[in-house]
Amino acid sequence: MKEVRLRHHHLFCTRTFDGRGYDYRFVANMEEVVSMLRCPDELVIRLDISCDDICSHCPNAVRGLCKDHDSVVEKDRSAALFLSLPEEGTFPARPLLSMVRERLLALDDIRLVCGECEWAELCNEWLRTNRADGGGSDAASINL
Ligand code: SF4
Ligand code: SF4
Repeated sequence: MKEVRLRHHHLFCTRTFDGRGYDYRFVANMEEVVSMLRCPDELVIRLDISCDDICSHCPNAVRGLCKDHDSVVEKDRSAALFLSLPEEGTFPARPLLSMVRERLLALDDIRLVCGECEWAELCNEWLRTNRADGGGSDAASINL
């Protein structure tokens, strides 16, 4: 069984990711993580409010800590509350990702959970597009 470590708000960022990011190294790693999430059956997600498998390749992480530590911890707590998830734990990927998709698509504006974020307009575009698709794929086919 493979494992991906994610902080809570990255459950959203990996959904709405469209190939853009801070730099080449970040994007290449994000693509790798997203491609793992696309095969959720042999995967568990370890949630924790700390630097994860995405932060590990981010230029904003310095010695294992995000330079915006306080605000990202706040985002993680908000995401955990929104998703009714504990602050740490390990979960089978498929049901977790399906639940995240369902809850996200019920949102009108991602800022209600994430607060201000430089990528928020792109993420809201993802919400609009996927809602227009009627929610996209069903739970049997995780479509990130
Ligand atoms: S608004 Fe920002 S934090 Fe929220 S999902 Fe989009 S990129 Fe991630
Ligand atoms: S280090 Fe900070 S900015 Fe970079 S991915 Fe992690 S939480 Fe996001």
